Amino acid sequence: MSERPVFNFSAGPAVLPEEVLRETQEALWDLAGTGIGVMEHSHRGAAFDAVYQQTLADCRAVAGIPDDYEILLLQGGASSQFFMLPANFLADDATADYLVTGAWAEKAAGEAAHYGRVHEAWRGEKPYTRIPRPHEIAYSEAPTYVHMTSNNTIFGTQWNAEPEIPDGSWLACDASSDIFSRPIDVGRYGMIYAGAQKNLGPAGVTLVILRRDLLERGRVRELPTMQRYDRKNGSMHNTPTTFGIYVMGRVLAWILRSGGLEEMGRRNREKASLIYDALEAHAGFYRCTAGEGSRSAMNVTFRGPDEETEKRFVAEAEAAGLCGLKGHRDVGGMRASIYNAFPREGCDALVRFLADFAKRNG
Ligand code: PMP
Repeated sequence: MSERPVFNFSAGPAVLPEEVLRETQEALWDLAGTGIGVMEHSHRGAAFDAVYQQTLADCRAVAGIPDDYEILLLQGGASSQFFMLPANFLADDATADYLVTGAWAEKAAGEAAHYGRVHEAWRGEKPYTRIPRPHEIAYSEAPTYVHMTSNNTIFGTQWNAEPEIPDGSWLACDASSDIFSRPIDVGRYGMIYAGAQKNLGPAGVTLVILRRDLLERGRVRELPTMQRYDRKNGSMHNTPTTFGIYVMGRVLAWILRSGGLEEMGRRNREKASLIYDALEAHAGFYRCTAGEGSRSAMNVTFRGPDEETEKRFVAEAEAAGLCGLKGHRDVGGMRASIYNAFPREGCDALVRFLADFAKRNG
């Protein structure tokens, strides 16, 4: 049972596992009996090095990341990967294909256009309600890479499987809002990246999983060191976000002892079904904004009968301890973000509130 007074449905930064918060509280004062807090240790010292190495090892274990992939823990958020990816890999006269399934995908494509040619292999219509069907995707002739956004945080849509891509190309994925929420076949990707602040830890640390042959092939243009993946010392080129890495390490250890990605996937499917089923049960009052078959297990987006009633929904939910349910302005209405650490009881509480609110206002 949760020991916290409210349920936090925030889209990110978002809820963290309570056990992780307790461990972190302790480590702020004293990391592993050193008498020095985690934020006060040198990033080059033995105590932090142990944290760092364990975090990398647990990351590899959680997702079954093969040895021929490098793990980098960088800064600048997922948004910096929007430009680092094309800056390193997309030559001026080459093309990258983007699957534009939402606002973050749009931004990623926009940054790539500063470096090379961008082809939109699919573009949804606003407010992006679905993921493309395979036959709707039209690739360019020889894209360097294909970029996808596995979960569209704002619109509440999620890919169920990786798209097929042209031979000779590789798949780059912004997995910021569903990283490690279900099993993943890392071998299908050239690169996976994610800001930590939804499923992995605090804002500030960004996970990049990169196939080593891409790293070794090297960058296509000269770049400042901090923009290069192939810099010496990887994540340790400068002072990394030591605190963020520590918390990410605790979250990864929590995933492992909770049963790994299979169990995360099972829990997340169950939690999401509870809410989608409740919305369907009151379909005359609520409306899911994401199309069936594209619905996200991480961000459940829905509308009420009118904006006035939606405003009251959000305010009354907040007063009842269900916080952060206001939808993004691009979609309006409500959004329940239920990442890995979001407890099942919070979904049960929302289901009760959905029924009660519909009864009182329907
Ligand atoms: N991609 C997705 C799918 C996101 O949800 C977000 C943030 N909500 C971003 C990218 C941007 O991440 P950051 O703030 O870490 O740059």
